[in-house]
Amino acid sequence: MIAGACLIVTAGCGDPTSDGDNSTRTVGSGGAESSMSASTGAAGGQVIPTYSVEENVVGGSPNVLIITIDTLRADHLGFHGYPRATSPRLDKLAGESVVFEWAYAPIATTLPSHTSMFTGVYPHEHGVLANIKDGRSYQRRKDLMTLAELFQRAGYATQAVVAATPLRPQFGLNTGFDGYNAPANKQQSAEKTTKQALVALDELAASKKPGLLWVHYFDPHGPYNPPVEFLSKFRMDDAMRADLAERKFAARSQRPTGQWNMLEAGIDSYDGEIAFTDTQIHRFLKAAEESRWLENAIVVVLADHGEGLNQHGVAGHGLVWEEQLHVPMMLRIPGVEPRRIGTLASLVDFAPTLLHVLDLPGEDDFLEQVSGVNRFRSDLRHDEIRLLGQQSPRQSDAEAIGYSLRADQWKLHMSAENDASLYDLSEDPFELIDVAAKNPRVVDKLTAELSEMLRGQLREVQTEGVSKTIERDLRALGYGGTK
Ligand SMILES: [Zn+2]
Repeated sequence: MIAGACLIVTAGCGDPTSDGDNSTRTVGSGGAESSMSASTGAAGGQVIPTYSVEENVVGGSPNVLIITIDTLRADHLGFHGYPRATSPRLDKLAGESVVFEWAYAPIATTLPSHTSMFTGVYPHEHGVLANIKDGRSYQRRKDLMTLAELFQRAGYATQAVVAATPLRPQFGLNTGFDGYNAPANKQQSAEKTTKQALVALDELAASKKPGLLWVHYFDPHGPYNPPVEFLSKFRMDDAMRADLAERKFAARSQRPTGQWNMLEAGIDSYDGEIAFTDTQIHRFLKAAEESRWLENAIVVVLADHGEGLNQHGVAGHGLVWEEQLHVPMMLRIPGVEPRRIGTLASLVDFAPTLLHVLDLPGEDDFLEQVSGVNRFRSDLRHDEIRLLGQQSPRQSDAEAIGYSLRADQWKLHMSAENDASLYDLSEDPFELIDVAAKNPRVVDKLTAELSEMLRGQLREVQTEGVSKTIERDLRALGYGGTK
């Protein structure tokens, strides 16, 4: 069903299947180099295969399952080359899916990033810039439709199970869902999330309508305290220590909640959270398969953002470093051959890419609003792709926001104070060497392009006060300052 297409052809079209093979890494806690060379090969004249997929390929009204895993950096997953067995079940699913190897969150914060996934627009366009700021929540631009609203209008039964306070219904992503299950406290474990997802699945199966189910797992988010067998599952070794040293991870760094994140224990327990989540997702998928709801269903796995783990001296997330923005993005689509796609993609591209394989009444209206790009299009040029990233303003920050712009092997960082730095990810995948001074023309070009992209920025964002309870719960998760 997938027609191979050469995106950038300088030496003929390579074997499409080799793209995935080349990107499988075996060493290092990310080993980004080999995949990065595949991604940035366009600059070096390498062949970058991409794939076009037939429109409306699935046919009818298939069930759609969207799993989002909070705070899951791509390079800690087996199918992204991580040497630890954090994700055997997700790896298997990836082998059955179209995997976007270089997918990026537009922002490393839960609510704004999920809002981008479900609306297809960047945070500076939908207006949700943080989970909370100064005790107030941001409101999404009122004219934007969400994927859930589109599916509901198209006759789907829609259910959501979310696992943490930033996605509670009052923050706006509940629209379009017939049922929206959120925890009463700040977060819930994957075990409970799976249990609730199975209840939601039963409701969908009983409805006799096609179904959309969104399940959000929160466990890899700090603090990292998985069940004891997962807490002791991984132990730091010398090979990983050497890799961490190469990336200049800090030995410790402080969280917004005030606690210190110690490097080795932090990574071991973070990986334990991923492994725990992996088993719970497997439990859910197995039950869903037994109920036959998954037959001919589209299954999507995404993460809203990554995690610092002390890289660049940051324990958590909210900034634009690769480890905080690079996320898994895969779609298992009936009739579409599993593939690894090495071109850049953003979570704002997810909705138009998903809709490409469906034929929902009303989807043209939705597609008019999106700034993301359908990544199954065959006429995309890798060197023309631009991915925007932005920092999340926190309570203690000024109004100004820092941005990043990814273009081929280059990544421009523009600080809130308008200081530019530039990284060549083909040479420096861990963003350690600022080469702005050596490449002033690249900086000027990307700065101009960044300004152009930000012209669509909302002039006024809307905010609303939140209850003291919610403010306290968000603060406990590290959002909204430490006071
Ligand atoms: Zn998140």
